Amino acid sequence: MRVINKSGANAFVRAMSIILCLILIIGSSVSLSANSSKTSQQLSKARDKAKQIQKQLANSQSELKKLKNLADKRSGDLAWLNQRTKDQQKAYEDALRRKDSALIVMEQTTSEYEAAVQEFEDQKEIYGERLALMYQLPEKSILEALMSSEDLQTYFTNHRLMKIISDTDELMLSRLQAAEKHAEEMKEAAEASYEDMEKLVAEADQLLADIKADRDISAKKLKKAESALSKAEEESLLWASEMKKMEENVSFLQKKYKKQLSAEEAKRKADAEAKRKAAEEARAKKEAAKKEAGKKAETKNKKSVKASSGKSGWLWPVPSSRNITSYYGYRHIFGSRRFHYGVDIAAPVGTKIVAIKSGVVLICGSNRVSGKYVSIDHGQGIISSYRHLSGFAVKAGQRVSAGQTVGYMGSTGRSTGPHLHIDISVSGRYVNPMRYIGR
Ligand SMILES: [Zn+2]
Repeated sequence: MRVINKSGANAFVRAMSIILCLILIIGSSVSLSANSSKTSQQLSKARDKAKQIQKQLANSQSELKKLKNLADKRSGDLAWLNQRTKDQQKAYEDALRRKDSALIVMEQTTSEYEAAVQEFEDQKEIYGERLALMYQLPEKSILEALMSSEDLQTYFTNHRLMKIISDTDELMLSRLQAAEKHAEEMKEAAEASYEDMEKLVAEADQLLADIKADRDISAKKLKKAESALSKAEEESLLWASEMKKMEENVSFLQKKYKKQLSAEEAKRKADAEAKRKAAEEARAKKEAAKKEAGKKAETKNKKSVKASSGKSGWLWPVPSSRNITSYYGYRHIFGSRRFHYGVDIAAPVGTKIVAIKSGVVLICGSNRVSGKYVSIDHGQGIISSYRHLSGFAVKAGQRVSAGQTVGYMGSTGRSTGPHLHIDISVSGRYVNPMRYIGR
């Protein structure tokens, strides 16, 4: 029984730990299952199943505990009944011994009484014989015998005889009386003893009967307890096997779930990989598109790398050069302080110069100071001008797009070397061009 309980308890503990693991696995995988409704359903089912089994196991545990308690009680009953039976057996044996002793005492008393009666009878007989002998001799005869004693010797002999007779009588009488008394006493003692012993025997008989009845009941109870015990043992075995089944079920679910989990994990990895690849392809495409755009720009502008950038939507006017030789603001030339209302960018003669934003060409002009120049109206009162050009790529009134070549780098007008002077005016006032193209 103990072995069964122990193994049952162990099985239970194992099953519980498996369930806990399962619950942990299920709990941790809920997020994983989110992207697959089918898997999610399966997981939900598995979780429900695990809960159900957990409940069943708990029930089994309590059932097993009950059975164990019952079995313990039965074992206790059995031991108690066994002990009781032993005690009863001892009491029975004691009662039997007492009865036997009482019977022996009764026998002894009876025989003693009988002996006393016999003694009395014997004495009576002896005395009776003596009396008869005496009565055969009449009293006068005794006197006559005494009187007729011829000599003194005879007299004394006779006297002595009489005396002997008298003494003998006396002795015999007392013996007879003693025997009678003894017989009387023996009779009384025997009667009393017999009564006692009879009582004792009756008591012993009653006790024996009680014990026998009790023992019969005990035997019945014992049998019942034994059968209950074996039944409890059987049920324990049954429960243990049930728990084993449940345990197997749990491990099956666990395995099944592991499969699902690994499938889920594999799917997740595959998805991540696909995503990564897609992102890579997109990036590659973008890169290619960018390159393509760059090439297109180059076919239009010969060189175009940074011209197409510009967070504000304004482009850098010289795609091939960032070489700024003079910023917007005050500058000192040969000791005099003068205001420079544009930005100078140096590059070789003939370098492409592009429109910094889409617009309409206002002027393709020329003068002493600016040399050849192009002005473009971008709308909203914003006009950009490109000066000291060597040549034009557009005509006045032409619509240009951002990045479109409008002219070529030169050193016409008041210039010390090939460079572009670009300026921007807003509503007729010059502003720092870097505010637009510098970003
Ligand atoms: Zn300038």
